Amino acid sequence: MTNIAIGNAKLNIVQGDITEQGTDAIVNAANSSLLGGGGVDGAIHRKGGPSILSECERIRRTLWRDGLPAGEAVITSGGRLKARYVIHTVGPVWHGGNNNEAEVLIRCYLNSLELANSKSLNSLAFPAISTGAYGYPIRNAGTLALKTVKDYFSSKYKETTLKEVVFVLYTRSDFEVYEELVKAIF
Ligand code: ADP
Repeated sequence: MTNIAIGNAKLNIVQGDITEQGTDAIVNAANSSLLGGGGVDGAIHRKGGPSILSECERIRRTLWRDGLPAGEAVITSGGRLKARYVIHTVGPVWHGGNNNEAEVLIRCYLNSLELANSKSLNSLAFPAISTGAYGYPIRNAGTLALKTVKDYFSSKYKETTLKEVVFVLYTRSDFEVYEELVKAIF
């Protein structure tokens, strides 16, 4: 586990399962349908129970009838998870890197951070959005994730309620990539 201070906030990097995190909210790497999928999404719905899906269905009926566009984020309760809330965001599908993938991925992180702040949450855990089924190379995605959180706290730390951000990497090798990146970025 790596632990870094950014102003009054702290950043942790851990290897593990995001559904086990006890942060106020965890972020789901969802797909546009918001109706479940594989990877992190499947694990969150399995462990969190059916109330999360019901809330996602309601969001589809009311706010986002055609699905949640990539880069946007919405919030539901955490059902039976330790986390009180789940923030669902849709990452970009990797198409080689010249199709706005970076801009969209940065928006996923910023919109999730702002949504947590708007609910006055203190802690938030992120998976490595887009790096599974969506094919984003871990090194590129990790660099953007870490830089975006660093910039967010550098500019916003006086105003945001967030005090702790955790990056949860599922595999040892992804965790090692983040550990290496963090040394270069912080
Ligand atoms: P995407 O469709 O955005 O690529 P995935 O869920 O397929 O989303 O993968 C995103 C990342 O989450 C991958 O690096 C994958 O290894 C990781 N992952 C899968 N399950 C979990 C889990 N339970 N906790 C944390 N990370 C996970």
